[in-house]
Amino acid sequence: GDWLGLLGGGQLGRMFCHAAQSLGYKVAVLDPAADGPAAMVADRHIHAAYDDEQGLAELARLCRAVTTEFENVPAQSLRSLAAHCRVSPAADAVAVVQDRIAEKAFIAAQGIAVAPHAAVRARADLEQADEALFPGILKVARLGYDGKGQARVATRAEALAAFDDFGGVPCVLEALLALDHEISVVIARGFDGATVMFPVARNVHRDGILAVSTVALAALSGPDAQLEQQAGASALAIAQGLDYHGVLCVEFFVLRDGRLLVNEIAPRPHNSGHYSIDACVTSQFEQQARAMAGLPLGSPGLLAPAIMLNILGDIWYPDASDAQREPDWAAALAVPSAKLHLYGKREARRGRKMGHVTIVAATMAQARADAMRVAAALGLPAPQ
Ligand code: ATP
Ligand code: MG
Ligand code: MG
Repeated sequence: GDWLGLLGGGQLGRMFCHAAQSLGYKVAVLDPAADGPAAMVADRHIHAAYDDEQGLAELARLCRAVTTEFENVPAQSLRSLAAHCRVSPAADAVAVVQDRIAEKAFIAAQGIAVAPHAAVRARADLEQADEALFPGILKVARLGYDGKGQARVATRAEALAAFDDFGGVPCVLEALLALDHEISVVIARGFDGATVMFPVARNVHRDGILAVSTVALAALSGPDAQLEQQAGASALAIAQGLDYHGVLCVEFFVLRDGRLLVNEIAPRPHNSGHYSIDACVTSQFEQQARAMAGLPLGSPGLLAPAIMLNILGDIWYPDASDAQREPDWAAALAVPSAKLHLYGKREARRGRKMGHVTIVAATMAQARADAMRVAAALGLPAPQ
């Protein structure tokens, strides 16, 4: 059969494997980890570093197209693969998105608003930073995720200390904004430029990690409809501006004053799009496989209101001690609208994404009630 290739072996890769295999493809996963979630379900695991020339050559030989499931893959690896097979997203697009300084500059150049910020390459940049950026968040420019590599800083002195703590690597200082809520848009764009857009997800984060995504049938009018339209138009402009191929997510902040800002771009399927597996005609992972294989994209249509709850390792530790207890999956599945997805990670650690549950119900009120029951059954914080 035909092979599709993947750089990275986490849960996004695992769900990609499932979708690609359903379409009849075999999947080869290049992952430096021995037993990552994707490698466990892949048809072949190339156990190598992301910049290993032999591993990359094997992947390119085997596969007609290669994609990535995380944003920190060396852009150079994508570039060298592209000499041998189709690669999406392209190295140039990933290079922009994986560096917060370049990412913000690119978005702003598209005429799309981002948080007030300053690029911080040296202490002097912090010493001269606008007073209006405090209180702020200092974020490392590269390699951060799930709120890692970020420090909330009340003052310039705290920012300088945090910069030193991060080892003086390039950072971005952002003003700490008064958020009303957060939303995200997942887009898939084929090699022919055809684009489909998933419904807007409304996201709640806890400690910098996504906790809950809520997806309603599209608002037809009112302020929400306007925001959704604006977010969709921005996401589309970003995908086109990057000449992006594959699946991309744009995270937005909605401020208390109603303004919409782009937070960041993820060059891959996104945690806030996991609901699409159970609640949409075509999932974000199937779109990724279709896009890279040059197949037509599928309908992103939402079948019913949905709520996704992330399952972090914390619920394996129901009390303050380090004693582990397996969550009561059967109790969660006693809610018939709940669809459980576990990523097969060996070790449950606090703050680690272990799985998610999507609740798909006829009405949003029902979905909310069911989500409360699922959360209670698993010991998750009550979804807001
Ligand atoms: P991801 O896992 O989404 O890649 P990340 O580590 O790149 O996360 P961000 O998306 O930058 O982190 O921030 C994580 C969360 O922290 C945001 O979703 C938001 O809730 C909060 N946050 C980040 N920046 C700001 C800001 N400038 N003002 C207020 N809240 C913020
Ligand atoms: Mg990020
Ligand atoms: Mg984010």
